[in-house]
Amino acid sequence: MRQQNGAVVVAGAGPVGLSVAMLLAVRGHDVLVLEREPALVEDMRASTFHPATLDIIEQYGLADALIRQGTVVGQWQYMIHGTDERAVFDLGLLSDLTGHPYRLQCEQFRLTNLIVEKMRNNPKLSIRFGCELVGIREERDGLVVEAVENGQSLAFETPRLVAADGGKSTARKLLGLNFAGSMFPKTSITAVVDFPFHQYIPNLLGVNYVWTEAAHYSLMQLRDLWRFSYSPDQQQSIEEAMSDEVVQAHLCAAFPFAERYPVISRNYYRLQQRCLESFRVGRVLFAGDAAHLNSPSGGMGMNSGIHDARCLVEHLAPVLAGGDESLLDRYSRKRRTIALDEVQRLSAKNYRRHRETDPHKRRAIWRELQEIVRSPAKMREYLLDSAMLRSLQREQAIQ
Ligand SMILES: Cc1cc2nc3c(=O)[nH]c(=O)nc-3n(C[C@H](O)[C@H](O)[C@H](O)COP(=O)(O)OP(=O)(O)OC[C@H]3O[C@@H](n4cnc5c(N)ncnc54)[C@H](O)[C@@H]3O)c2cc1C
Repeated sequence: MRQQNGAVVVAGAGPVGLSVAMLLAVRGHDVLVLEREPALVEDMRASTFHPATLDIIEQYGLADALIRQGTVVGQWQYMIHGTDERAVFDLGLLSDLTGHPYRLQCEQFRLTNLIVEKMRNNPKLSIRFGCELVGIREERDGLVVEAVENGQSLAFETPRLVAADGGKSTARKLLGLNFAGSMFPKTSITAVVDFPFHQYIPNLLGVNYVWTEAAHYSLMQLRDLWRFSYSPDQQQSIEEAMSDEVVQAHLCAAFPFAERYPVISRNYYRLQQRCLESFRVGRVLFAGDAAHLNSPSGGMGMNSGIHDARCLVEHLAPVLAGGDESLLDRYSRKRRTIALDEVQRLSAKNYRRHRETDPHKRRAIWRELQEIVRSPAKMREYLLDSAMLRSLQREQAIQ
């Protein structure tokens, strides 16, 4: 069955695909989203929304609703476990630059749910769940996007495909694109724990990156729950590392407050850093994890994908209205530069800093952190990066 409605097709109803779809639809463009899963994915991935992203979500008209569902964290910190040593970063220092001088700790699926709810009755946007992108063909003046839904083959004629189908992107594979990069040596486990750690640990904030004597963990608050993340023993199999017994052992080693902790869910992640050579391949535009991957340290993947979405729509909308095609190359130039020079650089630095165990190197890092937090000017510089405000400023300057 071949459908010709001229809608832009977006593959993937994650935070990036839905942001693109919503922003195009509110500008009056017809958009069709294809989502492989039968409903919005509600997994345990991004939890941090940075100030720069909250400012964008404010423009969606969804910031207040999202903030109501999360935990506002105005100050976050590095800590040395079992001591009162800490380096506290105060996002209030950025209040002249952002309407949201805090990190919001909130699951990414709460944003996708809000977008779908907001757009429910908008005739410009339709979403087909259980509909998987399986083919892309160039035709004379457009693309034919092939999909499978309930075992039935479908084909959609479209002027453009936005590939926001995540880290394992089918679109990327269909086009045979090189996704250059590497895996990080250490994997990561995150457990969601229903335990009031803040009542037991003095000086705990909503976001904490902690060094123990020989390892590290992070502890992040999401309303009444806490996410505890750490690097598992690299000799263990995934099954062993993910067993309740081993996860409990890690919790009990870090926190002597209970014999068992109520673990609501746990997940195991391989961390990698990759990027496409171009975010535009003919009529296909890549955004989010489909275009670039980075370590989750510092929480920048989804945030930068949402920044891609805004930039993509700013460049794609004029092209859909007959504007100069080269705008799409400019989109690619801007966001690829940011992915490599800002997001990957900073998140790799965070990855190394959190996992450093060499006492000598740790001392140097700690000295540097203390110097930063003692100087409001240095702290502001640091926060401009981590709050992702600088990457947006840089993006504006790239032509
Ligand atoms: C443990 C962990 C913690 C993280 N924490 C943070 C954080 O705090 N802050 C942050 O910014 N980032 C974080 N990230 C990264 C963040 O989760 C991703 O960057 C984000 O999900 C990317 O969004 P996306 O829309 O590009 O892709 P996804 O969220 O992966 O969405 C892609 C969608 O495409 C669909 N799809 C896939 N293939 C097809 C197909 N063939 N046809 C149709 N649909 C398809 C999928 O079902 C999915 O719904 C974290 C990641 C991990 C693993």
